[in-house]
Amino acid sequence: MSRSAKEAAAAVAAVAVTTPVQLERLGEQLRKLRLLKSGERLEALLQHAAEQELPYAEFLEQVLSEEVAAKTSKNIAMRTAMARFPFVKPLQTFDFDYQPSIDRKQVQTLASCHFIEHGDNVIVLGPPGVGKTHLAVSLGMKAIEAGYRVLFTTAATLIEKLTKAHAEGRLEEKLKLYTAPRLLIIDEIGYLPIDRIGANLFFQLISRRYERGPMVLTSNQSFGAWGEVFGDRVIATAILDRLLHHAVTMNIRGNSYRLKDKLKAGLVRSQDDTATQPGGEI
Ligand code: ADP
Ligand code: MG
Repeated sequence: MSRSAKEAAAAVAAVAVTTPVQLERLGEQLRKLRLLKSGERLEALLQHAAEQELPYAEFLEQVLSEEVAAKTSKNIAMRTAMARFPFVKPLQTFDFDYQPSIDRKQVQTLASCHFIEHGDNVIVLGPPGVGKTHLAVSLGMKAIEAGYRVLFTTAATLIEKLTKAHAEGRLEEKLKLYTAPRLLIIDEIGYLPIDRIGANLFFQLISRRYERGPMVLTSNQSFGAWGEVFGDRVIATAILDRLLHHAVTMNIRGNSYRLKDKLKAGLVRSQDDTATQPGGEI
């Protein structure tokens, strides 16, 4: 018998050995086990296995690996939605050549998520548009891929929510919400001034996560200016003391990516020609 005739015969045999009743029963069992992908693909996979005369183990592996892949991508999609990122941009979309002050190796090491296992913080400093939020989101996405729960918030939203909860006597509940995710990303510290109550509530959250819950934080202000950001040097020092105990700081010095095309066209001046840059040490 020729090869194609043999394959055709095997396919006929597969259909013959798998009766409609059997298919129905298998489908129901897969649904009960929530193996939905396998349910969808069962008939095609059986047919393929028969045509290719796959060994039993290989067939089983194919079914299970498709199911695992489907479940993993569904899970990642769900956790990505729960993380509330402002945009979804993976690390591959970050152009390191545009921002040479960023240590590419350091970012790649962070992308392996060991900092999360160790409970370390990552603090990204730099002027507007240099990719702080992009990097924070990309690291958050890596954390999700590694199986962690992630929550993204801006400092302004976080403080607004904590202040409201405090006023309504629900602070504990809200603090739990921000301590529960394995990785908390707090973006844009320093864009808006924080009042005394806000600074105090922020400190409470940082204390709760200290040495337990890793964070990625971004700021357009150098650590030295955090006293003004929090309206109180003492509380800013207490916050920084905890944040920096186990932390990696990345200082981005460069041009805004938003101005990339304008810079090229010579419509604006490059940061290299201008004086001040945030991101100094305390
Ligand atoms: P920042 O938070 O520092 O103000 P963003 O991360 O929001 O800056 O970056 C501004 C925009 O430019 C975003 O759309 C971001 O994806 C993009 N961007 C910034 N830096 C880069 C880069 N190096 N490569 C690719 N896109 C970048
Ligand atoms: Mg930003």
